[in-house]
Amino acid sequence: MEKHKKLTLDPDDWEASRALAHRMVDEAVDHLKQVRERPVWSSMPDNVHATFQSGLPDHPSPLEQVYDEYQATVRAYPMGNIHPRFWGWYMGASNFTGALGDFLAAVEGSNLGGGNTGAAQVEQQVVDWLKEIAGFPKNASGTLTSSGSMANLVAHTVIRNFTAGYDVRQDGIAALDKPLRFYASDQVHSCHQKALETLGLGAKALVEIVSDDRQRMQLDALEDAIRQDRANGLQPACVIGTAGTTNTGAIDDLTAIADLCEREGLWFHVDGCIGGVLRLAPEHAHLVAGIERAGSVSIDPHKWLHTPFDAGAVLIKDPKAHFKTFEMHGPYLQLQERGMIAGKFLADYGLDLSRCFRALKIWMAFKEQGAAKFGRLIAQDISFARYMAEQVAAHPLLELVAPVDLNIVCFRHLTAGEDATKVLNTEIMLRIQERGLAMPSDTTVQGKHGLRCAFNNHRTQSEDIDLFLRDVLQIAEEILSEQTA
Ligand SMILES: *Cc1c(COP(=O)(O)O)cnc(C)c1O
Repeated sequence: MEKHKKLTLDPDDWEASRALAHRMVDEAVDHLKQVRERPVWSSMPDNVHATFQSGLPDHPSPLEQVYDEYQATVRAYPMGNIHPRFWGWYMGASNFTGALGDFLAAVEGSNLGGGNTGAAQVEQQVVDWLKEIAGFPKNASGTLTSSGSMANLVAHTVIRNFTAGYDVRQDGIAALDKPLRFYASDQVHSCHQKALETLGLGAKALVEIVSDDRQRMQLDALEDAIRQDRANGLQPACVIGTAGTTNTGAIDDLTAIADLCEREGLWFHVDGCIGGVLRLAPEHAHLVAGIERAGSVSIDPHKWLHTPFDAGAVLIKDPKAHFKTFEMHGPYLQLQERGMIAGKFLADYGLDLSRCFRALKIWMAFKEQGAAKFGRLIAQDISFARYMAEQVAAHPLLELVAPVDLNIVCFRHLTAGEDATKVLNTEIMLRIQERGLAMPSDTTVQGKHGLRCAFNNHRTQSEDIDLFLRDVLQIAEEILSEQTA
């Protein structure tokens, strides 16, 4: 019998792999350096699409060839959120140090479920830094998650178990004698409903409170809803304050909600996926006054900290409530005082057992840049939004459809008739996207449909905004002239 070489995934030729890896890094740097010269986005042609239909590879290929295929079919068709004129939805713009962090984390290879490792220390330190940012005490608990949605799910699980008043883990929600109610403004992010559905509480458990003309929760309506629900035999459990709504960047009155929660004995949760890091910018920190009084806060480093996807986080002020919700150990994974498994077991604070080392990319970027730099970038984004809002307000054909209180501008190009305006603005958005000029998204605010630019991009310059507005006006003219032709 022929003697086989021992199987491994390590390369046959380390020096060839080293050379290829160097090429990848060189080309990654070029890719980033030249981002401004490329279209923001381009649609994938059918022939490229077809390459993704092939089945499980049955032959090996040289890595160089795989990399070339990646460049041609994947890297050539990105979302575009690293481009300076990407302002759609709410993305971060990533950063190169974070990308290196992801690479190093994967090479180091640790599983962040727990363990006596440097990696676990890094995650706990990053969570400690997020506590400092949110104004939480050092003894608060917290964990990194895959996303803001997961961060909110973790928080709501803790809140459900804590407020139910019995052992939900043992007896399940079937034993709830009074249905729990969570209150938030009608601008609340959809992930909260998803979380409450997942937790078996039902979409009904999320009570949406009407917002005012600045899209902030109306607190007298909140008080009425709580009173009424109590009278109807329901159990108010939690008020969710949003620190920066996804739609328009509105910030609820967190101090007043904190007061109300104290008075009413309710859990105060802050969705800080956008504004949870605002205290890094001293001149804007007052906008989130009261966040430090919350029982829990969700934060999304992959948004305003530009951590490469993905990275979310949740802070829970009561470490016991957090631990008691998720702690669980099979016979194959018992904690020890010494050895590799000693120390805080990170999987006891969330749903995942195996966890990636997403802390490193945050840790490296904070150390390299310093925290204050992130605050200045936040302030810069807010100033871009104000700059654009001024241009829009000053132009006779453009109209703001929501007040600009943070870094999001919602506006539209005017034309006769509400339906025609919606059609026009949607077409403007699609042409701008398809031509790769910029990446706005769209939304509806109080019945007015328009374009939406969320400035959350450390590569944007004010010239990009001038260029974009010129494109909007020019394309609108083009569409309107097609209609009359
Ligand atoms: C983005 C966002 C979320 C969800 O976060 P993901 O990381 O996208 O899952 C939740 N709440 C608010 C306010 C957000 O802006």
